[in-house]
Amino acid sequence: MRHLKKTDPQIYKAILDETRRQNDKLELIASENFISRAVIEAEACVMTNKYAEGYPGRRWYKGCEFVDIVEDLAIERAKKLFGAEHVNVQPHSGSQANMAVYFSMLSMGDTVLAMDLRCGGHLTHGHIHNFSGKYFNIIGYGVSRKTETLDYDQIWDLAKTYKPKMILAGASAYPRIIDFKSFREICDDTGAFLLVDMAHIAGLVAAGLHPNPVPYAEFVTTTTHKTLRGPRSGMILCKKRFAKKIDAEVFPGIQGGPLMHIIAAKAVCLKEALEPSFRKYQHQIVKNARALADALAQKNYRIVSGGTDNHLLLVDLSDKHITGRDAAEVLDKVGIIVNKNLIPFDKESPAVTSGLRLGTPALTTRGMKEKEMAEIAELIDTTLKGFRDGSKLFSVGKEVKKLAGGFPIYQDLIRDFKK
Ligand code: PLP
Repeated sequence: MRHLKKTDPQIYKAILDETRRQNDKLELIASENFISRAVIEAEACVMTNKYAEGYPGRRWYKGCEFVDIVEDLAIERAKKLFGAEHVNVQPHSGSQANMAVYFSMLSMGDTVLAMDLRCGGHLTHGHIHNFSGKYFNIIGYGVSRKTETLDYDQIWDLAKTYKPKMILAGASAYPRIIDFKSFREICDDTGAFLLVDMAHIAGLVAAGLHPNPVPYAEFVTTTTHKTLRGPRSGMILCKKRFAKKIDAEVFPGIQGGPLMHIIAAKAVCLKEALEPSFRKYQHQIVKNARALADALAQKNYRIVSGGTDNHLLLVDLSDKHITGRDAAEVLDKVGIIVNKNLIPFDKESPAVTSGLRLGTPALTTRGMKEKEMAEIAELIDTTLKGFRDGSKLFSVGKEVKKLAGGFPIYQDLIRDFKK
């Protein structure tokens, strides 16, 4: 980083501080992860300089022979990993992947059935200030009050009543297995097509630890930076018969030049995901999430739906005299990074919330296992119980640093920075 240090010391320092922050704190945000050095090297490469509008073999600009190799490899690896007929690796983000599917298949005002944001859906599943909520008629489905899991009968009834053109399955805060076969049956019965947004669970799907939506859905979208552990970006997988429509909607429909350095990094992450070690890693993510949920439950925290099948859990704080917002704030002070989250049927607003969402992908990348999850549950409990006690928070902060220090990350980068 010596060039950056000389040219722009302020940005250099902020990057160094962020690298240290990632190393020193305990990252439990379910949508975050730590990419490999190989992925970092690919995304920081000169392919960012190249304009490559179009697709491999049919670009608008000359000089695309090497970026074509990269995009072809990314596509082939994604197809192999998920068993997809067609893949578009150009969406800049998960939101743009979703936007491309909406715009390619729907007209303004069409009805879409998607997971209610208050029960775990994403902004692109119908938030009023998002393109999805502004341009389409979104009907939300939720979870059962009793089990806090998806209520397929309710979804079926809603589909029969509203006759949506598209049904969207997938979520940002749902800790259980999603039954894509049931969604397919509902779609077949009511004439809707199925979009599965597997952004959160893509790594688990790749490893065979969550059912694969690809055989069931016309379209599957994903981010590449969550459990999949790649660069910040998106991807669309679809049936061959929609390939032309999707490709045309991504470019020139909603995007210009693809980010070829990011596509290179996506290709590297997909290669990593095809390795046997990736399955082991994903398996440990799930074991860690269960261990964390069990340890918190033993300390009398109510875990939404009674546990987790995937990489995340939702903790209900409504009987703890602290809101999700304040809990996230005080945990941040001791170095435990989480996000406030609505729980199903939450009485608080989205800005306050009664819950926390905790995820294990990032800490599992650092090598932490069940033992460390139990320690973290203890640290969370001590922090939330003693949130007004400065000396207690200070000593938890020291424990957090010690625990994080035992599982270092990006040490070589930090050393390089200091040279
Ligand atoms: N879909 C789901 C289910 C998500 O959780 C997210 C991000 O959190 C996205 C889509 C959007 O991804 P991005 O932030 O890359 O636009």
